[in-house]
Amino acid sequence: MEGLMMNYPLTTNTILEYGNRVFHHKKIITYLPDGTRHEYTFGAMYHRCKKLANALTNKLDINKGDMVGTFAWNHGPHVELYYGVPGIGAICHTINIRLSSHQTEYIINHSEDKVIFVDATLVPLLEKIAPLLETVEHYVLINSPANFKTTLPNTLNYEDLLAEQSENFEWPLLDENDASGMCYTSGTTGLPKGALYSHRATYLHAATIISPNAANFCSQDTALLIVPQFHVMAWGFPYLCLMSGTNMVMPSSNLQPEALIKILEKEKINKANGVPSIWMGIYQAMKKNPPTEKLTLQEYLVGGSALPASLIEAFEKDFGIKGIHAWGMTETSPLGTACRLQSKHEQLSYSEKLKIRAKQGISFPGLELRVIKEDGSLAARDGKSMGELHIKGAWVISSYFKTNNQENFTDDGWFKTGDVCTIDQDGYMEITDRTKDLIKSGGEWISSVALESALMSHPKIREAAVIAVPNKKWAERPLAAIVVADNQDKPSVDNLIEFLSKDFAKYQVPTNYVFISEVPKTSVGKFDKKVLRKQFAEGKLK
Ligand code: ADP
Repeated sequence: MEGLMMNYPLTTNTILEYGNRVFHHKKIITYLPDGTRHEYTFGAMYHRCKKLANALTNKLDINKGDMVGTFAWNHGPHVELYYGVPGIGAICHTINIRLSSHQTEYIINHSEDKVIFVDATLVPLLEKIAPLLETVEHYVLINSPANFKTTLPNTLNYEDLLAEQSENFEWPLLDENDASGMCYTSGTTGLPKGALYSHRATYLHAATIISPNAANFCSQDTALLIVPQFHVMAWGFPYLCLMSGTNMVMPSSNLQPEALIKILEKEKINKANGVPSIWMGIYQAMKKNPPTEKLTLQEYLVGGSALPASLIEAFEKDFGIKGIHAWGMTETSPLGTACRLQSKHEQLSYSEKLKIRAKQGISFPGLELRVIKEDGSLAARDGKSMGELHIKGAWVISSYFKTNNQENFTDDGWFKTGDVCTIDQDGYMEITDRTKDLIKSGGEWISSVALESALMSHPKIREAAVIAVPNKKWAERPLAAIVVADNQDKPSVDNLIEFLSKDFAKYQVPTNYVFISEVPKTSVGKFDKKVLRKQFAEGKLK
């Protein structure tokens, strides 16, 4: 028997309509690439989304199912694209501006973008590859000054485009399973692959992560959205801000620690997100130049790579700001877990609590996690048994875009993440590595993430990345690439070994150390171990 409830499609249009109806006075504030500040309301944004819908339909010939690319920073117009494009049934394909020219060309041709909305400051990156782009009919320039010159063909100006359109637009009735957005993986593990999101997945992901167990957003908040809109839909935050009535502040290209601190101060931000390297930079800048007044920032949500316990502790002790650890992937919309303590943890000591908070956390209703050991059996939930993390749920991809290759999926319907982890008896998941980053020494697994986290708590170390190097006797041994902290001298190898020996077994402690000026990073700010392996590991059998 079917329930007798209305069939109300969960689409991005319902989020936009709700945001306008209930929170029309809430604000979107943008710091543009030239540093100027722009402010408008959800209500004004709503009307521009309708103009955009008219422009897409009448002027750009965009139809249901068409791909519309964005190549842009975080700002108001990019939020309009997040709603206006899927609103008419087209797909908002956010293109990562930090990929190589070759990858960008591949992604645009593979997705078959018909139009690309591009920030004026990013135009030179597309000019280089425009002749190779097979499907793009128009480029729409955002934030472009008068008399802006470009070699891109068929350009239009975003503001002119909107100015000539009516605010009246009737959203078409969409199926909640229609595609709404697309993002390619950042290619850390090979050629980028497309994750095609649906309206339903986008809605459920955003509605779930508003929860106090996750992002913890409500209508009293003002959030700084540092996670780029060109990466996994800015973790869905532009959707959850309209759902929760949270003011959103967009930094565009003002991502240097000093610029972000200024925005945090000026806009009285209380919630924010970002990858660990951003927060590491902000912490160091605040340490150097402590703000005159205590920041209003209460907590920052961190994912993308592991948030070291040492950073959580330092931020909290020095500035009273809480780091909340989360985990996710492009393929999981992205948030899969978040880590907050529960009432049962209240009696624990600070260091015991910290140990839990440095884990990636518990999953959300609508998702399931399991850990599969090397021998194919299910790992016990004991916080020790390690294996590959599998995930399934309402906002996890069922396949990559335009491919029949199902090697990342199991026959019984799980997505294989390629992450290695443990889950404890309370459901807290802890990533120990990616399968390809694991170090197997003398038959024993060594976690590079645990070593990195420990090394980064050393007062003389700013960053540490650990990779496997071939070894005749042990098959592999860990090598630690170290970046020395500002104004510190190099720690000695003996000192580092002694420091790690407090927490690690002898076979786990690296004896190989190299000192580098910076850890190479991927397009989204993660340690790029591929580059390190090329530099220090390949062909160096010792
Ligand atoms: P890519 O797969 O191209 O690197 P993603 O941004 O989708 O792009 O990366 C997802 C991966 O990032 C996860 O599979 C995991 O390895 C890593 N990751 C994400 N969040 C965390 C975290 N909190 N701790 C450790 N690793 C993380």
